Amino acid sequence: MYAKIRTMSEKIHVTGLESSELFEFIEKAGEPKYRAKQLFKGLHERRLRAFDEMTDLPKAFRDNLNEIATASTLAVESKYISEDGTRRYLMNTSDGYPVETVYIPSTGRDTICFSSQSGCPLKCDFCLTAKLGLLRNLTAGEIVEQIIIVLNDVYGVGTATPHGTNLVGMGAGEPFMNFENLIKALGIMSSEEGLFIVPNRVTVSTAGIVPKIYEIAQLGNRPHLAISLSAPTDELRTKLMPINKRWNIDEVMKAARVFEKSLKRGERFTFEYVLLGGVNDSDEQAVELAELLNRYGLRRVKINLIPHNSAEQLDYHPSDPEQVARFKEILESNGVSAYVRQPRGRDIYAACGQLAAKTVDSGS
Ligand code: SAH
Repeated sequence: MYAKIRTMSEKIHVTGLESSELFEFIEKAGEPKYRAKQLFKGLHERRLRAFDEMTDLPKAFRDNLNEIATASTLAVESKYISEDGTRRYLMNTSDGYPVETVYIPSTGRDTICFSSQSGCPLKCDFCLTAKLGLLRNLTAGEIVEQIIIVLNDVYGVGTATPHGTNLVGMGAGEPFMNFENLIKALGIMSSEEGLFIVPNRVTVSTAGIVPKIYEIAQLGNRPHLAISLSAPTDELRTKLMPINKRWNIDEVMKAARVFEKSLKRGERFTFEYVLLGGVNDSDEQAVELAELLNRYGLRRVKINLIPHNSAEQLDYHPSDPEQVARFKEILESNGVSAYVRQPRGRDIYAACGQLAAKTVDSGS
């Protein structure tokens, strides 16, 4: 469906270069070193996506940059605004693949939900993104650019990035199957001379790519972690999330235990649990889930219960709100803290598991 159309020659996407690479790039381009810093600020602090807007750079340098590099590879195809203020951006990469990003406003704090892949290789049965399959990994630059585009749309180009901005790696794709680019993008975005969104303001969600949970546990400067569990038993989890055949619940729990040991003071991590009516939301399953966490001695964890966002192509329905409340109560009475995630942007297909490059009529 998404033909690989090369619309652009292979220019270097400078938005995806970390400072040291930008220095190298500048040196190769025959420019003085200090230009690297100026360029970094233009790209990430001022969030400019055209070199010609960086008027502090000499014209000859800008012309040179235009020849060999680009600061804009994503194009917004459509933007949808929900009645609750959530915005969904449907973008295209320069080679024609869909990328979706969601802006979720809330009082005192905004969240941007970015995608790590175009489509997704995992086949979670309750998720619409899964229907796309994996189209390709996004580059570090494409990850960073999503955030720049959203910030520019919401706050205007050239404004300072608001300090309350949080990021969640919970859009399309499995972030831990594009680990290197993800970590690189987070590094670029954390720079004080750029977006200055530090890892403490970022949460990345994984379906349970166990080796990467161990790897991230060792990183000093790392984002918060959420692990999608969605079932208390292997039998059910394998049905819902086939990745469980590769790494089962026991392996995920052992990795989570190691991760827990690496938490900073006061920090917790999260298990996500999509509530599917009549499938994984019974009282018994709530008890099993609490017992599971207790069995592995996990203490600094909370459960985010996500009411299922339905779609015609999915065979599931959301749990009864009363059952959601009971499920949460049972967890809590068994010593596990639980929260119910409020669905946002459902009317524009922006909620969890709804990102499937869908265009809807009310788009602008
Ligand atoms: N691949 C990663 C990142 C996706 S995050 C992961 O699986 O964690 C998206 C979150 O939304 C995951 O917790 C996923 O289980 C959940 N989700 C997927 N489809 C959903 C749906 N239709 N309704 C509610 N939540 C859904």
